[in-house]
This record gives sequence, structure tokens and C-alpha cells, in this order.
Amino acid sequence: MSTNEAILYNGVKIPWIGLGVWNEAREDATEAIKFAIKNGYRSIDTASAYANEEQVGKAVQESEIKREDIFITTKVANSDQGYESTLTAFEKSLQLLKMDYIDLYLIHWPIEGKSLETWKALERLYKEKKVRAIGVSNFEINHLEELMNQADIKPMLNQVEYHPKLTRLELKEYCLKHSIQMEAWSPLMKGQLNEHEILKKIAHKHKKSVAQVVLRWDIQSNFVTIPKSFNKNRIIENFSIFDFELTDQEVEEIFLLNQDEHLPPPDLSNFKEYL
Ligand code: NDP
Repeated sequence: MSTNEAILYNGVKIPWIGLGVWNEAREDATEAIKFAIKNGYRSIDTASAYANEEQVGKAVQESEIKREDIFITTKVANSDQGYESTLTAFEKSLQLLKMDYIDLYLIHWPIEGKSLETWKALERLYKEKKVRAIGVSNFEINHLEELMNQADIKPMLNQVEYHPKLTRLELKEYCLKHSIQMEAWSPLMKGQLNEHEILKKIAHKHKKSVAQVVLRWDIQSNFVTIPKSFNKNRIIENFSIFDFELTDQEVEEIFLLNQDEHLPPPDLSNFKEYL
């Protein structure tokens, strides 16, 4: 396991950077994942809803790295939320991945009236040691409060949309107070930040790309990050962020770019049967 890891409150280590594998076009992710692992990635972020857990499993099995040295995150889909249905969905994810445990299992989205039951199922899976850590995704402060009022085990991580135009200071402070690790999805704002003048200026100074600056800012602001790329050059580029450091002033300058701007919802026309 790489030394570049965050530590969850239960002691489990998660690499600061992993490969995100959601893609709207439903391209096969297998070769990209194998290439990423070969080039140092040790963490893959998938979800039942991405319909590619089988590809993730295949890539890990065909890689030269041992299963226990790769950190696998998957998520229970909205349509599977509830106690029994989550336990069934978890077994299906294991089968597709051809694995006997998951490193991090997340509730993909909060669903009123259901997420608590889903969480109880995650707690059971954690107590049975079928998952090394459990957490949530897309939970705001009110969702976390409601969950933690009833939970035996606090979420270990919250995966949310995070990039320089959406910096989520209040949520971050709340999670920090409760020892919940933050993780950034769409950290590159899906490639929309590449021409940003201030980011370009900082990138130029460090002889790095805008993407590398943004990913470095993620980890310096204590967010685990999971950029998606299926392109060989960009897979390597995104991982090359451990040989430079942003100054405190640059980190602050990037925080000032916040506009509370969320990405529009994705096109799910290729995914109707899963969501
Ligand atoms: P990202 O912000 O990671 O951006 C991905 C896009 O940016 C792709 O089009 C990619 O193209 C391009 N890109 C990647 N690297 C670079 C680079 N160095 N320079 C320029 N362009 C680049 O968006 P995602 O929405 O994919 O988010 C990342 C991951 O987060 C997902 O894959 C998924 O695992 C997770 N996620 C979780 C959600 C949740 O609800 N929990 C919701 C959304 C995402 P190319 O492949 O051609 O390089």
C-alpha cells in the first residue's frame, strides 16, 4: 500500500487519490483500471449504479497487485436501499467483483425514510467484517445529524461533489468535528476548470497542469480525491501530485474561487435499468 494515505477514524487507511470509474458513455473501464494500477493507483471508486463492478473485479484480478493491497469502494444504489435489500445488493456486488470483502461501502444518496434502514445493514456488514469501513455519499449536515442520532456506528467517510467552485466549508467543518473523512467526487469539475485563469497561473508557477493543481489542493484541504480518466496520459498526470506543494496562500486563493456551483445532473439515459 502506498504511503500516501488518509486514516479513517477506525484506523483503516485509504489512499489520498483513487481512480473514479463512473462514465456516462458506459465505456469498458477494465483496461483503464489495469493501466492505473500498473502506474501506482491503489484505490478504485465504483458503485452498483455504475454497472461496472464486474470490470473493476476483472481488472484487479488481472493486475499484478494483491487484492489486499488495493482499496475498493462501492456503493448501494438508491433502488436497493432498505435493510434486507441492501444485504442482498451487497452480496451481488461481491459476486460481480469476485471478491470476499469490500474496503469501503457507501450509501450512494440519502433517501428519506430509507437511509436509516440501509445504514443498519451497513453496520451489520461492518460488524461481520465483510467491509473494512462504512460511510455515506451526498449527505448534507441535516442527513448526517439524522443518521447519527440513530446510528451505533458513525459514518467513517462522506463522498460529496467538491471542486474549486464548490468548497463546502460548513459541511467540511461539521465532518471534521465528527471525525468523518471527506472525499471529493467530480474533483476536476468534469474538465471544466482547465481554462480558469487563476488556476492556470498557479499551475504555470509549479510547472504542473490545472488538473494536478486542483487534485493537490484536494489533498492539502484534507479531501481524498477520485478523478476519473480512461486516458493513459491523464491517468498518469492525475497521479503525479506528490512531488510539489501549494503554498498556504495558493490553497486560500483556490478556496476564494467558490461559487457554490453544483454540476448539472448527469445524463442517465444509458442507466435507466440501474437507478
Ligand atoms: P471528474 O471531475 O473526475 O472529471 C472527469 C472528466 O475530466 C472526464 O471527462 C475526463 O476525461 C476528464 N479529465 C480527467 N483528467 C483530466 C486531466 N488531467 N485534464 C483534463 N481533463 C481530464 O468527474 P467525475 O464525475 O467522473 O468524478 C470522478 C469520480 O467521482 C467518478 O468517476 C465516480 O467514481 C465519482 N462520482 C461519485 C458520485 C456520487 O454521487 N458519489 C457522483 C459523480 C462522480 P478522460 O477520461 O478523457 O481523461
